Amino acid sequence: MQNNLKYKRILLKLSGEALGGANGSGIDPLEAENLAHRVREVHELGVDVAIVIGAGNLWRGRAGIQRGMDRATADYMGMLATVMNALALMDAMERSGMVTRVQSAIEMHAVAEPYIRRRAIRHLEKGRIVIFGAGTGNPFFSTDTAAALRAMEIGADVVIKATKVDGVYDSDPKKSRTQSALTA
Ligand code: UDP
Repeated sequence: MQNNLKYKRILLKLSGEALGGANGSGIDPLEAENLAHRVREVHELGVDVAIVIGAGNLWRGRAGIQRGMDRATADYMGMLATVMNALALMDAMERSGMVTRVQSAIEMHAVAEPYIRRRAIRHLEKGRIVIFGAGTGNPFFSTDTAAALRAMEIGADVVIKATKVDGVYDSDPKKSRTQSALTA
């Protein structure tokens, strides 16, 4: 473990597309494995890693709403989709030697622990990677909100967002290796 770490505990926000195949849709176990390897490198430095995963590769509430669906129903479907992604990530991470726990904001005991803040913190202290599924558990929100919320709750030093979704950049994101979150 290194003592000169800039951040001791990070909340990594992964968009669902990070798990998708070439066009960013579906779940590609090889992409999940790639991600897992990269997370392991950071974890091996001695950083506590918690992850919030999105579901843009499977379902976004917006897609249903545009076709006339009830907003809350479409959003709940999105939250359930994040749990599928969380399980895919858990599988890849455990295969690459990490110990993980999935916590879901919507209770589903057969596949994930319920979200319990103090338990999540305890897992991190024990060196486990915690993957948060089902967003905030509330419709009308996004997994970005969930990332900010969980980061505050677990005392993360920084939120790092890995996404292909368009945003506001201060340089070309494909060329620039430094993310503003890391240089802040
Ligand atoms: N969602 C929600 N509440 C939350 C988090 C997510 O209702 O707290 C729903 C919402 O419909 C969203 C979908 O889940 O579109 C998938 O999350 P998001 O779009 O944030 O995924 P990402 O873009 O990060 O892949």
